[in-house]
Amino acid sequence: MPLKQIETSALARENYWLKSLNEHIQYLKKNSWYYKDQLMWAGPEATVLEEVADISNFPFTEKDDIASRNEDFLCVPMTDVRDIVTTSGTLGGSVATYLTQKDLHRLGVNEAGSYLLAGCTKEDTFQLLTTIDKRFMAGLAYFLGANELGARIIRSGPGAAQLQWESIQRFSPTVLVAVPSFIPRLISYALDNGIDPNKSSVKKIICIGEAIRDENLQPNYLAKRITEQWDVQLFSTYASTEMATAFTECEAGNGVHLQPELMFVEVLNEDGNQVKNGESGEVIVTPLGVEGTPVLRFRTGDICHYYDEPCSCGRNTPRLGPVVGRKQQMVKLKGTSLYPNAIIDELNAIPEVANFVVELHSDELGLDEVVIKALLRGENAEAKVLEKLSGKLRVKPRLILASNDEINTLKFDENERKPKILIDRR
Ligand SMILES: [Zn+2]
Repeated sequence: MPLKQIETSALARENYWLKSLNEHIQYLKKNSWYYKDQLMWAGPEATVLEEVADISNFPFTEKDDIASRNEDFLCVPMTDVRDIVTTSGTLGGSVATYLTQKDLHRLGVNEAGSYLLAGCTKEDTFQLLTTIDKRFMAGLAYFLGANELGARIIRSGPGAAQLQWESIQRFSPTVLVAVPSFIPRLISYALDNGIDPNKSSVKKIICIGEAIRDENLQPNYLAKRITEQWDVQLFSTYASTEMATAFTECEAGNGVHLQPELMFVEVLNEDGNQVKNGESGEVIVTPLGVEGTPVLRFRTGDICHYYDEPCSCGRNTPRLGPVVGRKQQMVKLKGTSLYPNAIIDELNAIPEVANFVVELHSDELGLDEVVIKALLRGENAEAKVLEKLSGKLRVKPRLILASNDEINTLKFDENERKPKILIDRR
């Protein structure tokens, strides 16, 4: 596939973004009750961009804004809505995103673009280990994307290792789309049942919802655990319902690429300024061409590293590293601040830890406290684990020993797509 000009030319991208952002703002002013209020407040002269950087004059949109005025974000009559997706809101209750026919098509084009970034073609067969129902967007997007690409699709859904292998052996998928923490279970099932994963048709796994690289873009513990046993290529992705757009890694594995036709992205530091290559900041997105529930400068709360140096694949589109943390999950411990993901990565890499959850509490003084509830194995495991953790993290978290059942009760909620390893009780 030849690269598009917008993927290789910064000038072409700027021109495209300037035109598209202006169209987007005019669309919001005309059709969104929420943004009519917001943009009137900003003043009519502020609603035209002369250059892309002028976007910083516009207000952010928070998840709570969408939750508190959900229906005011809908830009079309309800009769034009084709699919309703929800996410859990921070204010309690769920937050709806409404998709029109055009939005469903856009979602498919987006996910086809995501597959192309990962080097997939219409010759591939995709096995989707994702939930397509429960009002989720991701599973639907992966289905529409493979269809847009013209490839074959096997909707095997999450879990069910036996069904997955039966499906792999019968229909020979070349690509799996899955939550990566499920893959070790898939490998164990194969090995326990006399199946050699390396003799299967699967060549690539598109990983959703969880990181497979560390902050330096090197494979993390989970990725190594998978590829040591199964010779497959893993691809990171990063997306959310509000974005309706997926960032995806190319075969160079240098961070996930933005699809510039579909979204404008800012990565901002504490002062609200765009960060430089290699620095981290909060990801702010403006998805383009969304008709049903469009947003402007949506604050994801995700902290990622930003890269804009040309990638060896030939694209020079902005790229992001894995989510190092959520802005509101930042923990302040004895003068240092850290994101709980760092603790989770460490725990995953310690062989004495068999199962765990991480809880964040605030103590009676309002200070943050990290409590790890873990099932340990091996001799003298508690001391070893504490030593390894405090060595890496410079702070000593509280460790409470728990049974497998106690941990799993905290971890698994039937309304969640994936196990909840971090529980914020602050
Ligand atoms: Zn690349």
